[in-house]
Amino acid sequence: MSQYDIEPLLSKASILAKYSDLPQGDKIMAEYVWIDGHNHLRSKTMTLDKKPTDISELRIWNFDGSSTGQAPGENSDTLLKPVAMYRDPFRRGDNIIVLAATYAADGSPNVFNYRESCAKLMEKYADEDVWFGIEQEYTMLDYFDRPYGWPKGGFPGPQGPYYCACLYAGIKISGINAEVMPSQWEYQVGPCNGIEMGDQLWMSRFFLHRIAEDFGVKISFHPKPLQGDWNGAGCHTNVSTKATRADGGMAVIESLMEKFAKRHAEHIAVYGEENEKRLTGRHETGSIDKFTWGVANRGASVRIPRSVAISGKGYFEDRRPASSIDPYQVTGVIMETMYEC
Ligand code: ADP
Ligand code: MN
Ligand code: MN
Ligand code: MN
Ligand code: MN
Repeated sequence: MSQYDIEPLLSKASILAKYSDLPQGDKIMAEYVWIDGHNHLRSKTMTLDKKPTDISELRIWNFDGSSTGQAPGENSDTLLKPVAMYRDPFRRGDNIIVLAATYAADGSPNVFNYRESCAKLMEKYADEDVWFGIEQEYTMLDYFDRPYGWPKGGFPGPQGPYYCACLYAGIKISGINAEVMPSQWEYQVGPCNGIEMGDQLWMSRFFLHRIAEDFGVKISFHPKPLQGDWNGAGCHTNVSTKATRADGGMAVIESLMEKFAKRHAEHIAVYGEENEKRLTGRHETGSIDKFTWGVANRGASVRIPRSVAISGKGYFEDRRPASSIDPYQVTGVIMETMYEC
């Protein structure tokens, strides 16, 4: 027997609790989260002297953009501007998680900051009261990149805690379900108003990654994680406006579909990399080459739910976006097509 075989006295969880349960006085931890140059999330934490009551009380921070694929080494300082804050489900108490958008020192948005132009469009058309709801599909993998095995009892660990953490933080999780492919799941965020959609979806992904890590699980947002006769993973994007939700809304949706048909290529351009592997016209998808829409049609680019056709008003579902999308780009191009074309 070697020294390495000796059992530790405490489990990792109770070691962690021994420290994280210590009182932190009046100090608050604020974890700033941002989107890097690889469609991934990064974070760093700042100690504050008191609990902020408004986002404007949080200061602009910075980081080395050259290490995150976001800026050249010779001009690497990248600014983090707080845009939304949430309760921290990990540190709990008054601690917060802050979503931050990235800018250069001169105030111009970072090349990977797709939020800036999206927020402008949302503001410009705020009176249209556009709501979004995104269905985030994802695949759970083990550390060898194989689909995560279903544990005995049938319900993979991270799901329950994930749902609760998001609700605690203030993310509008509206539902959760298992998918057709084993180890593939979906949760829905929404309805969210305007820019809130992108903010909340990005934040929800951060929580999902963090909790999966606790369970020794990796999350993949690849649109076709397994080649062959398996369903891909998407981010169906549901949309309604003040006009589509009002009486006569179905006619408004139909006229929107004519606009969408003309801008298929512009949409596909921001609906995710390798989406062509998923949008094959099979496995409940439409073909990537052609825009189609229909009532209750899961093989179309856009589906109008049957209930919407019956009541004559409501929302439509754009089924084209891949699971890996940047939701700012997707909600942004939808706004452009609806109001600027
Ligand atoms: P599906 O039948 O396609 O699986 P889901 O129940 O998974 O539908 O997801 C429906 C999504 O639509 C949710 O994100 C929900 O928030 C969103 N949603 C519901 N009503 C509206 C609406 N009026 N406008 C925009 N989004 C909506
Ligand atoms: Mn440093
Ligand atoms: Mn769904
Ligand atoms: Mn689904
Ligand atoms: Mn759907």
